[in-house]
Amino acid sequence: NAEKPSKLRIAIQKSGRLYDDSVKLLNECGIELRNVKDRLKTESDTFPMEVFFLRDDDIPQYVEDGVADIGIVGENVLFEKNKKAEIVEKLGFGKCRLSLAIPRSETYQGVQSLDGKRIATSYPFLVNEFLKKNNISGEVHEISGSVEIAPGIGLADVVVDLVSSGSTLFMNGLKEVETILQSQSVLIKNNKLNKEQEILLDKLLFRIKAVKKAKR
Ligand code: ATP
Ligand code: ZN
Repeated sequence: NAEKPSKLRIAIQKSGRLYDDSVKLLNECGIELRNVKDRLKTESDTFPMEVFFLRDDDIPQYVEDGVADIGIVGENVLFEKNKKAEIVEKLGFGKCRLSLAIPRSETYQGVQSLDGKRIATSYPFLVNEFLKKNNISGEVHEISGSVEIAPGIGLADVVVDLVSSGSTLFMNGLKEVETILQSQSVLIKNNKLNKEQEILLDKLLFRIKAVKKAKR
């Protein structure tokens, strides 16, 4: 009854803004992946690692459940999902912020002016936390995409959305008036890794830190 050799199962985004940088980081750490095209998962021949390709929204849950041991995801998604997964390292890519934006024609009167407003967002949990913290009540409308068009079509008064350059907001007649969260990609881990997996994770972390240092 030989024990299976230990390996790390990592969840990364299947396609989208984090995909390239996630694969690149693994490659820079000496972890080559077998042909990844159209696959749900793949393995590495150069590190004991299995890679799962998932929607970023699902990654915190998979890591909390231990279906994956570690994962790469944006802090925005991690905090919105509010799952039990520990951040082990900030990765320095996928930088953006979760911001409140209002119609450009309006003058921002501070958070209190949001009281009773309709807020469109894909981040209902984080928006509700923000409202609670500021002791205001707004109507949070969850929409899954193209949040920035909501005010223009009369669906909401303001939006809370991810911003990097701000050009999407600008094109939709909006302006950023409040930052709710600064975000970047992070490496997260399940909190019940076994001894061997912890050793593999340490090895990976050592390499990630070396890669980051070389870039400075
Ligand atoms: P999926 O199909 O995996 O659910 P998605 O459409 O939710 O993909 P992407 O648009 O690929 O997600 O963004 C993934 C992550 O990239 C975001 O959650 C965020 O952490 C980061 N990001 C960086 N800059 C931006 C930006 N300007 N807009 C949106 N996300 C950004
Ligand atoms: Zn997503």
